[in-house]
Amino acid sequence: MNLSNDSTYDIVVVGAGLGGLLSAVILAKEGMKVCVLEKDKQIGGCLQTFSFNKKVFDSCVHYIGGLGEGHTLNKIFSYAGIMDKLALTEYSENAFDRIAFADEDLTYPQAQGNRNFIEQLLPYFPYERESLEKYIQQVNYVGDHFPLYRLRNGNGSEKDAVSNWRLMDTLTKITDNKRLQSVLTGNNLLYAGVRGKTPFFLHALVIGSYIHSSHKVVPGSSQIAKFLWRELQNNGGTILKDTEVVQLSTKDGIITHACTKDGQNIYGKQFIANIHPQVLLELLDENTIRPAYKKRIESMEQTVSTFMSNLVLQPKSVKMQYSNLYWNATDDVWQAIQYKPEEWPANYILFYTEDKQNKGYAESISILSYMHYKEVQQWQDTYNRAGDENYRCDEYESFKQRKEELLLNKVYERLPELKGNIIASKTATPLTYRDYTGTPEGSLYGILKDVNRFGAGTIATKTKIPNLLLTGQNVNLHGVLGVSITALATSAELIGMDYLLSKINP
Ligand SMILES: Cc1cc2nc3c(=O)[nH]c(=O)nc-3n(C[C@H](O)[C@H](O)[C@H](O)COP(=O)(O)OP(=O)(O)OC[C@H]3O[C@@H](n4cnc5c(N)ncnc54)[C@H](O)[C@@H]3O)c2cc1C
Repeated sequence: MNLSNDSTYDIVVVGAGLGGLLSAVILAKEGMKVCVLEKDKQIGGCLQTFSFNKKVFDSCVHYIGGLGEGHTLNKIFSYAGIMDKLALTEYSENAFDRIAFADEDLTYPQAQGNRNFIEQLLPYFPYERESLEKYIQQVNYVGDHFPLYRLRNGNGSEKDAVSNWRLMDTLTKITDNKRLQSVLTGNNLLYAGVRGKTPFFLHALVIGSYIHSSHKVVPGSSQIAKFLWRELQNNGGTILKDTEVVQLSTKDGIITHACTKDGQNIYGKQFIANIHPQVLLELLDENTIRPAYKKRIESMEQTVSTFMSNLVLQPKSVKMQYSNLYWNATDDVWQAIQYKPEEWPANYILFYTEDKQNKGYAESISILSYMHYKEVQQWQDTYNRAGDENYRCDEYESFKQRKEELLLNKVYERLPELKGNIIASKTATPLTYRDYTGTPEGSLYGILKDVNRFGAGTIATKTKIPNLLLTGQNVNLHGVLGVSITALATSAELIGMDYLLSKINP
């Protein structure tokens, strides 16, 4: 039976995060009739921004790798029609990140450019030139085994050759200098690394992209979502905001339509889910999923969540830094994720945003530290997000205040000029992330990549339901680059990889 009619979309995308939006644009550019359904009033998922005291803050994405001229993400965004519209600030060439440890005052730079990365670290490790050369060589070697990261159509066996390398085993073979190992992994908050589980490829693809080039989107990462939306509209596509999908209805094993919370039925020929796979399972008829698949998805470990403090600063009080600061309580950088609540914070990352009126000074700072969901679990029945604002309770507010004090006291040790110069602040917890992105337990990057699991914890874009594809951070890799690469893989299932790559790489 043909269920299509005039109002049937070629493509229905569930979730207007980066993965959903980019897939939607790519397919709309091919003349397909595309509709994106987003539960929130704002689009973008993790690309959302918010503001207070007239300052714009990123809720998640603070800096992006691979946006430089000729680099992978630059080419993808150029193809999507948004690259020339994005305003970017470049990070310091000699240090996109600075790595700090509690036991010493100095910070170690991680620099842009392969050669520069080595040269900038060499003064701190004068006897480690060979190790640094080897490190960069391995990062590139492994990156080259992920063909799409080089915008090349390869085959799965390339990845398989390096997918089971363990991060720390690989680093230990490169250098036995413990401090250098800690410096190279001191920004592991970028991929929520876990001792014994994190694969080297995750580290290599993420850090490698920032070594290629590091940028911030100004005034905030929501610009990416805004321009993708515009591009989607230019190609005849639609986004329905404030439209939560509560069921994907099937007939004879094929999805016919998405049922929304407000009672609409959106019919489509092909569906793309840009939501967490565990959330997707709840939307599907039980008999459409194989029990083994369900079990696999449900058993997958999630990455940790985070606490974030966003600070508006007294003008001209704190000097702008064009590097992020990653602070670790100990040399054992893997310890931070297993922090004991009484020892929190065990790590933090600090992002600066420049004051356009007073160049050279920061107008705001955002600080993130790992936080486990269980710390806020007692308030899990409360709900608060844009468009559905609710006050959780006094206890929760006091909890946030206590945590912010602890975090700031730790930060003052490195940045004493911050003390007394904070005009206003807002904090976010794992519950905030859960409610804003729909990710279970507010997990930072969704499913944990675990080298000990089959496929290291990645999921295929294809499902057993013939007209359902997956996209987004849970499929392959998180991050703006990782999710964009996955959007290519998802779209290529429908239009062909060689064809798509020939458009991106004319
Ligand atoms: C705190 C934090 C900091 C980060 N920092 C960086 C960074 O600096 N650089 C970087 O590159 N990456 C960063 N990341 C990672 C990056 O933001 C994400 O990997 C990426 O944006 C995820 O995109 P996505 O499309 O997979 O999903 P999401 O952005 O999670 O989008 C999913 C969308 O689906 C919607 N949705 C969910 N359920 C439904 C439903 N039932 N019906 C309709 N819609 C639904 C959600 O509302 C959401 O809009 C950060 C992430 C976090 C959490």
